[in-house]
This record gives sequence, structure tokens and C-alpha cells, in this order.
Amino acid sequence: MKLKNATIILGTIGLITACATNPFTGKKTMALVPNSQLFPTAFAQYDQFLSENKVVKGTSDAAMVTRVGQKIAVAAERWLNANGHVGYLNDYKWEYNLVNDETVNAWCMPGGKIVVYTGILPIAKGETGLAAIMGHEVAHALANHGQQRMSAAYVQQGVAIAGNIAIKDEQSRNAFNQYYGIGSQVGVMLPFSRAHETEADKIGLYLMAIAGYNPDEAAELWKRMSAGSSGQAPPELLSTHPSNESRIANLTALAPTAKQEAAKFGVTSFK
Ligand SMILES: [Zn+2]
Repeated sequence: MKLKNATIILGTIGLITACATNPFTGKKTMALVPNSQLFPTAFAQYDQFLSENKVVKGTSDAAMVTRVGQKIAVAAERWLNANGHVGYLNDYKWEYNLVNDETVNAWCMPGGKIVVYTGILPIAKGETGLAAIMGHEVAHALANHGQQRMSAAYVQQGVAIAGNIAIKDEQSRNAFNQYYGIGSQVGVMLPFSRAHETEADKIGLYLMAIAGYNPDEAAELWKRMSAGSSGQAPPELLSTHPSNESRIANLTALAPTAKQEAAKFGVTSFK
């Protein structure tokens, strides 16, 4: 009993020291795994993923992925700088790759490492739809949603006492992959919570609008995604991003606000 109490107290101290305010949400978030541990692991796992998959180079689709990714990254930097968070992206090493795979999926790992699968391009239906997808995935990374899910899992397993956790063994790396989207490698990626989805939708809308893409398209994108789920194999992205009608209504309602946000950066026309 005494030991249990001590564990809880120490665990709580660990949590408090590991909390940081997220600039996009203004919320205190749990980050037991610090970026100094997370980013090198992410970069190594990303390189490994690329080496084991067919990266598309030199096509117009590959160029589109790079173009959209760069614009989203610039939008994120502008937004953060304007809101008093200069340097937030200092350790980011943005990279955008299109991978030849029929899976309907896309993800962004910590530090700005993005993969888009060719299988999602028919649903993206062009550059603006792709911007909605990539804006949303980048938003998860910027808001440290994967980090929070991973930290929460560690707490549940009772390993929060140290405060900071190193990703050093095979088991930790598998957990990392499970929470960051490299689903096909290690089994099933766990879905984001509804709260995280709503947050990523809002941030993603801002980013795509500041990047010059029409935020009205985001609701249309998710309508196509949901329609795609009626087939025999639902899109992989939907299994990790539970969607419903309220999400589409929310995106539609938020689009004018995203346009107002873009206007602050001189962006008033959208493609
Ligand atoms: Zn999401």
C-alpha cells in the first residue's frame, strides 16, 4: 500500500515536470518522451521505412507532394512566428515523400517527416484535397498528439516515474511505430481520440488556408473519404481517424474562420 502511494506520488511529479504548453492549442500537454529522444528515433524510423518501401521520384504526383508539404511547412512557421513561438520548429527536418502503395493513408512523424501513399491520391482528387490531408497530418505532429498518446500508454503501464523515457529498445520502438503511423510494419496503428481529431482538423484548416488552399475543400475531402469506406476495404486512414457527420459539419463551420486567419497573413485568394 505504501509502495503504491509512493509510486503514484512519484508518477505525478514525473507528469508535472513533463508537461509543456502546446502553442497551437494553448493546453498543457503530457510529454514524457522529450523531443531530444523522439526526433532522432523518428528520423531513423523514417529512413528505415523509406528504404523498405517504393519511394516515387520524378513524377508530377511526387512533385505535388513536395510542393504541398513545403507550403504547409512555411504556413506553420509563419503562424508560429506570428503567435510568439519563434524557434518552435528549429529541430524540425521537414521531408515529404510519396510512396507507391495502394493503401489509402498518409502520416507525419515527429520532426516533420511525411509520407503520402499513392493510394490516397484518388480520394485527394488534386492539390487542394492533398493539402487538406497533409495539413491535418502535420497538425497532429505539431500538436504532439502521438507523443501524448505514447505518454498516456506509458502512464497506464506504470512507467511514468522517471519523468523522461528513452526509446532505446525494440519494444519501445514498436510502441513508437504503433503511435506514429507506420502501421503496416508493426501491426495496427491506434486511432486518434475524437478530441485530437477535432484539434487537428482546426489546425489543419488554418495551415492549408495560410498556404493558399481553399479550406472549404476539407469537408469535401472527408465526405469522399467516408464514401470510400463503403467498399470492401475501408481506407486505412479512416481506421486511425474515426470520422462522422459532425466532423464534416465542424469543418464546414470552421472554414470561414480559417479564411480570416489566412487574411492576417495577406492570403485572400485560394486555389
Ligand atoms: Zn487525424
